[in-house]
Amino acid sequence: MFWLWRSLVIAAMGLTTMVQAITLSDSDYQRYRQAALDKPQLSYADIEPVLQQHRLNPLFRFSQLGESALGVPVWQIDIGNGPVKVMAWSQMHGDEPTATAALMDLLNVLAADAHSQWRSSWQDKITLRLIPLLNPDGAAANVRVNSMGIDINRDAKALQTPEGRLLMQAARQFKPDFGLNLHDQNRFYAVGDTDKAATISLLAPAFNEAKDIDAARTKAMQLIGDMRDLMQQLLPGHLAKYNDTFSWRSFGDTFAGMGISTVLIESGAHPGDDNRQVARKLNTQLLVMAVNSIADKRYTRQSLDAYQAVPFNRDGGIKDMLISGLGIVVNGHSARVDLALDFDLDGNKLARIRDIGDMSVYGSFHHFDASGLQYQAGREYPLSTNLTLDKAGYLALLAQGYSHFRGEASLLQNNSDLPVVLNPVKLSEGAPQRQRPATFLLADKDGVKLALLNGQLLHLASATVLNPLGS
Ligand SMILES: [Zn+2]
Repeated sequence: MFWLWRSLVIAAMGLTTMVQAITLSDSDYQRYRQAALDKPQLSYADIEPVLQQHRLNPLFRFSQLGESALGVPVWQIDIGNGPVKVMAWSQMHGDEPTATAALMDLLNVLAADAHSQWRSSWQDKITLRLIPLLNPDGAAANVRVNSMGIDINRDAKALQTPEGRLLMQAARQFKPDFGLNLHDQNRFYAVGDTDKAATISLLAPAFNEAKDIDAARTKAMQLIGDMRDLMQQLLPGHLAKYNDTFSWRSFGDTFAGMGISTVLIESGAHPGDDNRQVARKLNTQLLVMAVNSIADKRYTRQSLDAYQAVPFNRDGGIKDMLISGLGIVVNGHSARVDLALDFDLDGNKLARIRDIGDMSVYGSFHHFDASGLQYQAGREYPLSTNLTLDKAGYLALLAQGYSHFRGEASLLQNNSDLPVVLNPVKLSEGAPQRQRPATFLLADKDGVKLALLNGQLLHLASATVLNPLGS
């Protein structure tokens, strides 16, 4: 009788135990944020010490899922023993590291003594499996594809990559109810028609061309509804929805077709945040919320309206830099125009004029109001003998109308701490032109006030770059 009574009590507790939901505030987050991951690219060597540290913790069940084509281990980390299974994987594209850092942060959150009540409130409800850094070879080379040159996220059906096979194997063996597919998106997406950057984009991927909504996709959309509510508190206006076109070869769409409630989380850019630390923090906060929501089925209270209301990404809606209201003259026609500039930060570091005219529908990471200023093509300073530039001498040359140097690089010694343009190819002449280098001068009736030097805007009077690249 006693035993029966006890098991009834335990069963009743099991039914009524609520998840002791935590919300990770910004200051909480700083406590658990893993150090040394604020970098433009992350490889296995960056996360290995973090994994080693957590391997010793009996909370986590580490197992090696397999290895990449070049023999780097891919780990899966399980926590909890509940019937509802949640699987999150990151960086199947090697040059998309943001969520890998977030998974390291999440390990720290999960391991914290302060969160023992939280953990024990959901550990018998869900099993969480984390697979950080699915494509370590691509990560080491800082490229999207794996070492065979194959985009793993177009290999869900062909399964020709070891890494793609590992992910499919994990899905078939673990049989997740929820899949969290973690990526980075390009920095030029705006939120719908707004001028705000899509710092996070979400999607419940379709499983067919018709984009039908079955029970599994409904749950994914409901969970995104909860994520939207959280984003409205944390960073209003910066959440968008990723392109929902069915992609037969991709893992998210394939998993959706296998009945897994799949949520794509895309980390995007934010002004002044080159290493996407804003999106990293939001990822961690969204993942913690997802654990809460899935464990106590809170997401089921969402209608699909919240999901439908999230605006789609607008490709090209954000520019690297906008210079607005600049005066130009072409064949006697005066005009005031906006210039959109693109910075090739990863490749040849060349900043170009991308577009000219009314750019008021776009947002930007850097903006300069050029009202009252006039475009002026810079003169070329020929290098024939050794030239040592100090700050005052260089500023004087710019004020005289020079914008760049031409000649043997070894002749120029730049001691000014200011950017210098040497041997530019195809500069604009009388007026700015598309696709030409972003190097010219801005003047008013008293003379040159600013110099745009390969996209960096130098204010002559204060000798400061207004938009240092890398900020
Ligand atoms: Zn990706």
